[in-house]
Amino acid sequence: MKLLEGKTALITGASRGIGRTIALKYAEQGANIAFSDLIYDDKMILLEVELKSMGVKARGYASDASSFESSEKLVADVLAEFQSIDILVNNAGITRDNLLLRMTPQDWDLVMNVNLKSVFNLTKCVQKTMLKQRNGTIINMSSVVGIEGNAGQSNYSASKAGIIGFTKSIAQELGSRNVRCNAIAPGFIETEMTAKLPEDIKAKWIDDIPLKRIGTTEDVANVAVFLASHLSSYVNGQVINVCGGMQT
Ligand code: NAD
Repeated sequence: MKLLEGKTALITGASRGIGRTIALKYAEQGANIAFSDLIYDDKMILLEVELKSMGVKARGYASDASSFESSEKLVADVLAEFQSIDILVNNAGITRDNLLLRMTPQDWDLVMNVNLKSVFNLTKCVQKTMLKQRNGTIINMSSVVGIEGNAGQSNYSASKAGIIGFTKSIAQELGSRNVRCNAIAPGFIETEMTAKLPEDIKAKWIDDIPLKRIGTTEDVANVAVFLASHLSSYVNGQVINVCGGMQT
């Protein structure tokens, strides 16, 4: 028996990067996959096709996770198509890095809306379904910098720290109805988000990681499988670092 057989997962920001690999790993474990990203493009179509070829039901939706209205519509559309949502992965995220001196209020607001408000939006919209089912697991993508901060990323770090506070609160609110809420704090993971970093900075980061390598999207997705499955049935309100020991 596969770990997620018969479950439906909704994953935000999944046309590429960590979200995409989570979708593929979940499908490997038998889950039906609804996923969102900003636009319905070739990447979305490609993932949809790849997931369907694995024998599960799959559909990509163009939806802006930072908009409450768009999230409400997304959840309604997914429920109409899939009938249930058992797993929510709040994965969509962006960076607009700068020192505070040069950070604009627009870049602050954008990062907070896409990274943090999106988590509120989707969680609020799926909660009724999960409470009624008396079953559900919510996984929020935080970051190691949400725990220890990072110069040049005050907006991003604040949004990722906010996710941790939200995760712990929701775990306490919904736990009695068998709805769990946990966060993953990835370290330095190879995706388009980190591809734009200068090579010397990357080399320095890798040197600081006890495992001496950059993380892969699979490293993160494997923990997302664990948190989505019954293997983590007594894990609630926790933050699991996936950082090669960069943060202990
Ligand atoms: P990525 O940039 O490769 O992918 C993010 C996806 O989110 C993209 O497909 C993007 O189009 C989508 N997206 C952006 N804004 C959106 C919105 N408003 N609505 C819906 N989708 C939207 O990034 P990634 O590296 O795969 O990161 C995934 C998550 O993991 C993010 O939350 C990120 O902050 C977090 N994270 C990444 C790393 C890393 O090293 N890559 C480390 C820690 C945390």
